[in-house]
Amino acid sequence: MRGRSYEGRPRNVDEIDARRRLANDPGLMGHKRAIRTGAYVLVVRLERCVNLQVGKLGRFMFAAGVYAYVGSAMNGLDARLARHRRREKKLHWHIDYLLRHGTIVNVLEFESSDRQECQLNARVREGWNTEHPAPGFGSSDCRCTSHLHLLPPGTGTSALRP
Ligand SMILES: [Zn+2]
Repeated sequence: MRGRSYEGRPRNVDEIDARRRLANDPGLMGHKRAIRTGAYVLVVRLERCVNLQVGKLGRFMFAAGVYAYVGSAMNGLDARLARHRRREKKLHWHIDYLLRHGTIVNVLEFESSDRQECQLNARVREGWNTEHPAPGFGSSDCRCTSHLHLLPPGTGTSALRP
């Protein structure tokens, strides 16, 4: 066979990696650029209490305070975090609704090649003893109570590491 085929079974690790890059960005053929993937925690401060309709999930009261939102970006961590920071965007995820009112004050990144969002979510819940004002928030596709956590008052955001 002439040239490299990207169909059929991958023959070696290099080819698997090349396929992954191609899947992430077809324009990257031949270039070496690793796309970082993994889970993350957005630490979001809400200055004042807000009564908010969160898409189809429902309407909830969010008290003023510091929230932790756990997500994952298996197609690229940097692009996802950049999207979270952007003000102008179509509302898609539950967190998009909250971010119209809150400010991202810290981001914790956990790089991995497999999806570890829910394990990280459990560590946040147990490690920080959090409350969940909006059950189902960010957890439509898993069995977690919520991927949005309200941190106990006085939790220092610089010390946050679940
Ligand atoms: Zn989950």
